[in-house]
Amino acid sequence: MSAPDKNAAPAAAQTTNFLKNIIEADLAANKFAGRGWAGVPGDASLHAAGQPDPAKIRTRFPPEPNGYLHVGHAKSICLNFGLAREYGGVCHMRFDDTNPEKEDLEYVNSILDAIQWLGFSWDAHGTHHQYQASDYFDFMYRAAELLIERGMAYVDQQTPDEMRTNRGTLTEAGKNSPWRDRPAEENLRIFREMRDGKHPEGSMVLRAKIDMASPNINLRDPAIYRIRFAEHHNTGNKWHIYPMYTFAHPIEDALERITHSICTLEFEDQRPFYDWLLGQLRDAGMFADPLPHQYEFARLNLTYVITSKRKLMQLVTEKHVDGWDDPRMPTIVGLRRRGYTPGAIQLFCERIGVSKGDSWIDYSILEGALRDDLDEKAPRAMAVLDPLKLKLTNWDALFGAGHAEPCSAPVHPHHEEMGQRLFNLTPELWIEREDFQEVPEKGFRRLFPDNMTRLKYGYVIKCTGCEKDADGKVTAVLAEVVADTKSGTPGADAVKVKGVITWVSATQGIAAEIRLYDRLFTEAQPDAGGRDFLAAINPDAKKIVQTWVEPGLATATAGTSFQFERHGYFVADRKDHGNGKLVFNRTTTLKDSWGK
Ligand code: ATP
Ligand code: MG
Repeated sequence: MSAPDKNAAPAAAQTTNFLKNIIEADLAANKFAGRGWAGVPGDASLHAAGQPDPAKIRTRFPPEPNGYLHVGHAKSICLNFGLAREYGGVCHMRFDDTNPEKEDLEYVNSILDAIQWLGFSWDAHGTHHQYQASDYFDFMYRAAELLIERGMAYVDQQTPDEMRTNRGTLTEAGKNSPWRDRPAEENLRIFREMRDGKHPEGSMVLRAKIDMASPNINLRDPAIYRIRFAEHHNTGNKWHIYPMYTFAHPIEDALERITHSICTLEFEDQRPFYDWLLGQLRDAGMFADPLPHQYEFARLNLTYVITSKRKLMQLVTEKHVDGWDDPRMPTIVGLRRRGYTPGAIQLFCERIGVSKGDSWIDYSILEGALRDDLDEKAPRAMAVLDPLKLKLTNWDALFGAGHAEPCSAPVHPHHEEMGQRLFNLTPELWIEREDFQEVPEKGFRRLFPDNMTRLKYGYVIKCTGCEKDADGKVTAVLAEVVADTKSGTPGADAVKVKGVITWVSATQGIAAEIRLYDRLFTEAQPDAGGRDFLAAINPDAKKIVQTWVEPGLATATAGTSFQFERHGYFVADRKDHGNGKLVFNRTTTLKDSWGK
């Protein structure tokens, strides 16, 4: 062994994704070289007759089409599609629809949409790698018969209660079923009767015959087929038996010649069965080496976010939010509408890496990735969210009545090539209410009587007072323009000021509805310990305000992101913005406001 190289890159840089290390080692060992690929999923003989696989590795993303994808799925998508892309492989898009539940086309389409929006594709080498697990029912059935013929599966007629009792516990071995030693021919005959609908639901199951004393309970003769008289959206009424997920999944992977089957940690204890099953089916000639391997990683837990499909569904059906694409939702459609970009989500997934230990990722890491992505790209604009009128009382004397003073600002402070924004300074403006204090608190530097402040990209002004209504509420701030102080003109900084404020012309600015979104929950772990997550809903997560924005935003198209100077990042809403109506969603503030 050689001494560690002191000049080597830090270990962290190499190990943030342990799966990369595994794939690199597999590729270096030529583990998949010469493997056949038939161009379609199939068994060993089919693939053996195919071409050498043009894909260096094969991964898959296998959602059940029973809901909208969320930020946790995004991690799995970035991982599976990302690894395939990085290593010259292919990632299969597979709908895991072995459960005979009603498939909703709405979910199927939204899943395909979300993956493409994130920037990934399942097209490679001229093939559209989109599959559905229910297309493999015939293969799965054959696999079950092969196990029976090899004496590795049996029909069990114990009641569900008996089966549960005889399974044993973590400290106690299970007991063999009285049906365990039925002859293979009898198992085959009854299994075929099950298939043909001759036995009622729940009366029997097919079980793998492994070891009722195994310390791993998943190996204590797991059920692999059950009777269900249910119509399947793809296969109709053809089947009266359906495979269990743990049996179906390895077979799906093997048929598709997946090399690295990446799943979340809760499947770790299933891996021995995964390997047992594929080993049996290889020995029976159905599959060939190299068989797929399962690797587990920690699922994404994000603070202030819920990723249980069932609970997300509840938020929607009970109308705690305005649908799946509500900008407060952690669904991909929600994040998108909130103003998240594919780049931000990919950056987030890269930063959190992949680990083998469950942990909570702080929401600020997601927002940080978003700010880093948007900061570089988003055009700037001024918007006044809490408008208060500012009247420049010496305007006519200084410029002449009716004058509008042209001002300009960079579209992006670090990208001159993005050009200039043009807008006019006029004698009446909108400013933020918080920028004026009649009696200034200590350290306040903006508008208060006799103080001077700069109107950003415009002139220095001197506050002279304010107007109030009968209740004493300030209705307008009064100020005078200080001559010869316009930003960008010679001598503009001869007058020193400590404060700069943003503004929008009261006569030329445009009205816009702004939806101020915040985190949906007030608790970092809203559903921890069985807590009622609904009680942790943040009632202030959505506030609608009527605002004024820079005139140039009149042409903003839906889905475009901006940085509203000093306020944060906003996106023109994909649904409600347009046709003369301006609607912006706050994506995030400029700084992390939730701190620890
Ligand atoms: P269900 O409870 O309906 O099974 P699920 O979250 O497992 O929900 P699937 O549609 O089966 O949903 O998920 C597809 C893939 O996404 C799976 O491979 C799963 O491991 C992965 N996935 C789901 N949630 C997360 C998460 N929070 N972090 C990382 N990966 C996830
Ligand atoms: Mg699942």
